[in-house]
Amino acid sequence: MAPLRDEEVSGEAAAFVGVDGEACAGLGREAVGAGDPVDDGCDDESEGGEEIAADLVVDASGRGSPLKRWLAELGAPVMQEESESCGIFYCSRFYRILPEAKRPPMEGPIGGDLGYMKYAIFQGDSDIFSVTLAASPKDDELRRVRDPAVFDTVTRHLPPTRRWVDPAVSTPITDVYVYANLKNTRRHFVEDGEPRALGVYPIGDALLHANPIAGRGCTIGWLQAYLLADA
Ligand SMILES: Cc1cc2nc3c(=O)[nH]c(=O)nc-3n(C[C@H](O)[C@H](O)[C@H](O)COP(=O)(O)OP(=O)(O)OC[C@H]3O[C@@H](n4cnc5c(N)ncnc54)[C@H](O)[C@@H]3O)c2cc1C
Repeated sequence: MAPLRDEEVSGEAAAFVGVDGEACAGLGREAVGAGDPVDDGCDDESEGGEEIAADLVVDASGRGSPLKRWLAELGAPVMQEESESCGIFYCSRFYRILPEAKRPPMEGPIGGDLGYMKYAIFQGDSDIFSVTLAASPKDDELRRVRDPAVFDTVTRHLPPTRRWVDPAVSTPITDVYVYANLKNTRRHFVEDGEPRALGVYPIGDALLHANPIAGRGCTIGWLQAYLLADA
């Protein structure tokens, strides 16, 4: 299968929808392949959960969506998938500006590409901000920034980030979060005009996810949600 490039997933619309706050453990036994309506939603009775009847099931469970496996277990035609590494990993840490400190001025872009590593500062509300470092997963030296001590050393020496992470200015409020194994992935829920099942719709990252560096995932998800709501 041909490699799936960033630009190939950029034009796809798509989306999401939440249903309730409970973890969904599978599709109902009566829900099956194309031609048969999915008339059950979550089915977790074996674990003491509740089976929820639904006319429509929206899979917005993200890039680790189990839909492909769930449908296969129910005997539906297999969903094909194209997937290619994005060639990047991210590390992010969140901080809060100290009450007595002033937020450093943002002089220039919120991020940049140093060639060997990318960095960004994302400002939020409540005096919270995050610093992100990203590099190639093949760079053994730079993969060490996953270690909080190394992350702190790097961010305290990098000119654009050092004023933000100065202990006199802010304090970390999280560990270093690592986002690895990032892939461009496109799942084919409809093939030859036939959906793998009726009454179930994968949207957002569950259907298509792309390199985070492009910052498209949320937009794609919202577009899909609106398109589905309008359909
Ligand atoms: C490091 C990184 C940086 C990114 N930066 C950007 C950016 O700058 N801009 C941008 O637009 N996008 C960015 N993205 C992509 C963006 O985060 C995703 O495209 C977006 O979050 C997808 O939304 P979603 O609702 O489809 O899935 P998610 O946000 O992954 O939400 C899925 C939800 O489903 C829940 N869930 C999973 N399984 C079950 C289950 N069995 N039952 C019930 N609930 C379940 C999960 O707990 C989660 O809450 C980034 C992604 C990464 C990894």
